[in-house]
Amino acid sequence: MRVLVVGRGGREHALAWKLAQSPEVLNVYVAPGNPGIATIPQCECVAIDELDIEEIVTFAIQKTMDLVVVGPEAPLSAGLVDALTDSGIPAFGPTKDAAQIEASKEFAKKLMVEYNIPTAAYASFTELEAAKEYIRKQGAPIVVKADGLAAGKGVIVAMTLEEALDAVDQIMGDSIFGNAGSRVVIEEFLEGEEVTIMAFVDGKTVVPMVMAQDHKPVFDNNEGPNTGGMGTYSPVPQFPASLTDEVVKTIIQPTVDALKDKGIVYKGVLYAGLMITKDGPKVIEFNARFGDPETQVVLPRLETEIISVFSAVIQGKLEYIDIEWSNDATVCIVMAAGGYPGTYEKGRVITGLEQIDREFGNNVYVFHAGTTTKDGEIVTNGGRVLGVMGRGMDLLQARDYAYQAIPYIAFEGAHYRTDIGLKGIKNVQ
Ligand code: AMP
Repeated sequence: MRVLVVGRGGREHALAWKLAQSPEVLNVYVAPGNPGIATIPQCECVAIDELDIEEIVTFAIQKTMDLVVVGPEAPLSAGLVDALTDSGIPAFGPTKDAAQIEASKEFAKKLMVEYNIPTAAYASFTELEAAKEYIRKQGAPIVVKADGLAAGKGVIVAMTLEEALDAVDQIMGDSIFGNAGSRVVIEEFLEGEEVTIMAFVDGKTVVPMVMAQDHKPVFDNNEGPNTGGMGTYSPVPQFPASLTDEVVKTIIQPTVDALKDKGIVYKGVLYAGLMITKDGPKVIEFNARFGDPETQVVLPRLETEIISVFSAVIQGKLEYIDIEWSNDATVCIVMAAGGYPGTYEKGRVITGLEQIDREFGNNVYVFHAGTTTKDGEIVTNGGRVLGVMGRGMDLLQARDYAYQAIPYIAFEGAHYRTDIGLKGIKNVQ
């Protein structure tokens, strides 16, 4: 089989890496890919932008692609899967209509309220003054979100009234997230522990993946501003397996059914970012695709052929396959550029990557997230630069491998959290 993966981040690196391990897959093309992906023997990066729908479709037809897997949210909500399907190419991911569950927080919220899917109470505003008045009335803590896509950074969890008012000023007044902030959603603050449950969805059947936990704030102990995610681990032993059943029953399946009720068939991965509150799990956000960096810890644990899972999703046959997961644990630590999640510099030379394989073998793999090549060297090219994934018998071992590998890798300004996975380990001791 020939497969095309669309995207260039750590998630797409994990997808390409997993697909390349499949005996059924001969070639994995990645548009546009990254230098890490290019080191995988079966993979070839092609210089096509992930938003260039016409070029992607043309390339997929030319190369008689058997499957296209779309990684990021932007091409999904721009209608890439619709365009591929219209051209007769099997594509993994939701249609433009279905991707609204992520592209518009307002759409997702309305759906959840209408169908009684547990989530934080909210109100949305296009007027700055009205938003401020609502915030003053509700009081703090309160959460302010830009409505559109803002790469996971358009959310401010305000512990004081001043912070909340400041946040709407910046999002609506100063447009720090551009158009994404022309509407803000203001939410009730949910208290509890977060967890991610992603599920394969084939239009009707929902099959959950193993849980993962991300770390959104940039610094240890969850301090500092939110990022796209600073590290993940899986499993998440502080939550029982029955939580997954509960989330499928009360959240994911009802959401898929609600969409169907609206005439939208959801196929692909539905990502539920959850807060486990004292009243049970509640949705923080939905994503219309694999999470990043959750994918980097979840896919290494997938034992079933990924190709057969993707095919079952596209053909609406998920109910006929068993999806198996290994008992291994995985921990992924994000190495970020100096300054991230604020402004950061690009083009810093990355050294030491070639030592990882030699020193750690199968126990560590480095996913590239924001890198490129310049004058024959690998340099930084994004905020989240690398994801160092350790795998072991348990979280302690997986975490040790990942943190032992990090000192081998260097670039100017690099920073990472030192507490990834600790919560999961403390909870089992
Ligand atoms: P989101 O992009 O919506 O996932 O939000 C990013 C992060 O902000 C989440 O992972 C949470 O840590 C935090 N957050 C978002 N909404 C809420 C909420 N209603 N209550 C508490 N924390 C929240």
